[in-house]
Amino acid sequence: MDDKIAKKQLDDVLASERERIDELDTNLLELLAKRRDAINRVASLKREHGLAVYHPAREEDLISKRRAQAGRLDLDPDMIEEIFRKVLRGSRITQTRSLADKAVKPGATVLMVGGLGAMGQCLGQWFSSAGYTVRVLDKEDWDNAEKLCQGVDLALLSVPIAVTEQTARRISKFISPACVLADITSNKAGPLKAMLKAHPGPVLGLHPMFGPTTHALDKQIVVVTQGRDGDSCRWVVDQFADWGAVIVNAEAEEHDAAMDVVQGLRHFATFAFGQFLSRSDIDLERTLEFSSPIYRLELGMVGRLFAQDPELYADIIFSSPQRRELLCRYVEGLAQNIEVLRNADVDAFLEEFKRIAEWFGPFSDQAIRESTFLIDKMIERF
Ligand code: NAD
Repeated sequence: MDDKIAKKQLDDVLASERERIDELDTNLLELLAKRRDAINRVASLKREHGLAVYHPAREEDLISKRRAQAGRLDLDPDMIEEIFRKVLRGSRITQTRSLADKAVKPGATVLMVGGLGAMGQCLGQWFSSAGYTVRVLDKEDWDNAEKLCQGVDLALLSVPIAVTEQTARRISKFISPACVLADITSNKAGPLKAMLKAHPGPVLGLHPMFGPTTHALDKQIVVVTQGRDGDSCRWVVDQFADWGAVIVNAEAEEHDAAMDVVQGLRHFATFAFGQFLSRSDIDLERTLEFSSPIYRLELGMVGRLFAQDPELYADIIFSSPQRRELLCRYVEGLAQNIEVLRNADVDAFLEEFKRIAEWFGPFSDQAIRESTFLIDKMIERF
């Protein structure tokens, strides 16, 4: 009998605590909805005054304050940071969506040259959703070029790298001198020079650092290299900023040198890793069974490369003689390790390791922090 009473009392307490938890969860959702309403008010003010959606300093400040508060409330600061990062990203996407359907230059016409391609379709969609008139000129449409170019305010080249320069020359014969001629090619110096030479009007070089499957431009980087008449080109840059992109201004040469490493070296090293695995006929599934999350993460990057369009990566890797030269130096540098390995020269390895660690300097701390975050995510999911 006593047991029964005790059990009943326990059930009652549990039921009332669960009710309390439900009530708190409901409050939490109501608070999130109130937060969303406040965000919407901020978004319309930002839209009215032409302010950017993403405010990195404000977001970092908010995260620091919530982490500190979490500590005081005996909550895990990492967990609270993660929740707030999700909430903030959600807010940014809501804000940019509300800006996405508003054209910076209402009534303008955009010609997507290469508009049937992956990036052409993706960006054409963004311009079209913002209310621009979007026309497409792809490789079979040149007979119709004169008509397609009439009244165009922006001609955006979205063709393969190898034909960008000749396409700039070809299209410039049809567009008006007031039209902005821009490109989205992954290298900038050559196309910018060709566009400036071919077109007397406003010229702009862009490099969206995202692919065609990107659904939200929130925090995506667009590199802008100024060509001519920045004032007439400003609406194009502002339009990307309104879609949530972070604009990074650079000289074309500086951009290309950075891309030699960011894209050329990275993709080539990934290609070489995949090439070696396939040539050695490694049993991938089996290696994954023994794997650390780091191996899984790296293998994910390799597998991802080979799941995409080979032409795109050929374009990137073979983009310029300087880039190919850098990649040859990379391969030669790797070959220098053969002696060290054959001679089991551990001392030479350690010396080189320490030298490299010193060269990386304070970046190592950041690398540990960011990669730990990714590894934890992998463990959570797989
Ligand atoms: P894609 O091959 O999917 O599209 C290229 C389009 O250009 C095709 O529709 C093709 O028919 C058309 N085309 C080819 N020659 C033409 C010509 N002479 N006249 C008119 N149209 C022509 O390539 P993509 O991935 O969309 O890349 C296009 C550009 O975007 C490249 O310069 C690339 O460097 C750049 N880019 C690509 C990515 C990406 O992830 N795919 C990211 C950033 C920048």
